[in-house]
Order: sequence, then C-alpha cells, then structure tokens
Amino acid sequence: MEPFERIVEANQRYVAEGSHRSLPVRPSRALAIVTCMDSRIDAFTSLGLELGDAHVLRTAGARVTGDVLRSLALSTHALGTRRVAVIGHTNCGLHDPDGTLVDRLSSLLGRTPFQPEWGAFSDPRNAVREDCARLRQWPDRPAELGVAGYVLDVEDGLLHEVVAPAMVPAPDPMD
Ligand SMILES: [Zn+2]
Repeated sequence: MEPFERIVEANQRYVAEGSHRSLPVRPSRALAIVTCMDSRIDAFTSLGLELGDAHVLRTAGARVTGDVLRSLALSTHALGTRRVAVIGHTNCGLHDPDGTLVDRLSSLLGRTPFQPEWGAFSDPRNAVREDCARLRQWPDRPAELGVAGYVLDVEDGLLHEVVAPAMVPAPDPMD
C-alpha cells in the first residue's frame, strides 16, 4: 500500500505548508493543453504554468480521442478556454516504429473484448499533426479556437513546434 500512503502523506504536507490556493474554476489563461500521461512530462513547471492557468488533459500518446473532445467541449463552451495546445513527445510508450505494438497490447489484454482505438504512431510529429487536424475539423468547436502542436523532447525538455499556432475558422452553421 506504500504508493498510496506516500501520496496521502505528501498531500497533508502540501496543505500544511500553505501550497494550495482556492481559485476560480475557469482557467485564467483560457488555455487547454492536451499531452501524454508520460511520467517524465511536468506540464506545469516545464511550460511556466501555475495552478489555475490551464486545463491539462492527459492521455496515452497525447491523442485527441473522443473522450478528449468531450473534455474540450466542457473546457471551451462552459469554462471559457479558447486555445488548445497538443503536446506529443519523443520516446512515447505509444511510439510504434515497426507496427507491432497493437498486436502486443492485444495479446497482453488476453481474452478481454476491450479493443480501444490505441492511437499508436511511428512518428510523434505526425500524430500531433493528425490531432491538430482533428481539432480543426471538430464540428463542436467554439467559434473562436486557436490550435497549435508541439513535440517535447524528453531528453532535453525542449518543446519543438510542429503545427504553428493558428485560429480555426468557426464551424459552418449549415454543416
Ligand atoms: Zn507518451
């Protein structure tokens, strides 16, 4: 049970030291970040974000899945975010240069019928391009939405631009 006990104890210290602050629910920078669940990415410190600045949506591979769009619908329409940065990274667990990862995952899962859209990729830059394209074509996007895509190098921590920041045209009401 040790990993659980350690997080609860650390939380008690965090609160006792006065590190927590009560903040508004709407992110102050009107920004959402979609990035990977990878344990080497510090989405706050490495991007200069403070608590309350941005929504941080973390998925395997930083992929814009249906559930990420669910979260972004709430984030943009109800909570005021207007910019989405997709941040993939090097050396990702979903990196699949030889196209065997999905088969390996399926055999690890055994007989369970759970077969998600894994989103494995051979080049993290292409995955980020695909996901930014998905956001640009997202029919439920708000009228004002800026999208940008990056790959973070987990060796040196540097962010590399893959999709230049651009405003997406508003959805056509006739669509
Ligand atoms: Zn990853």
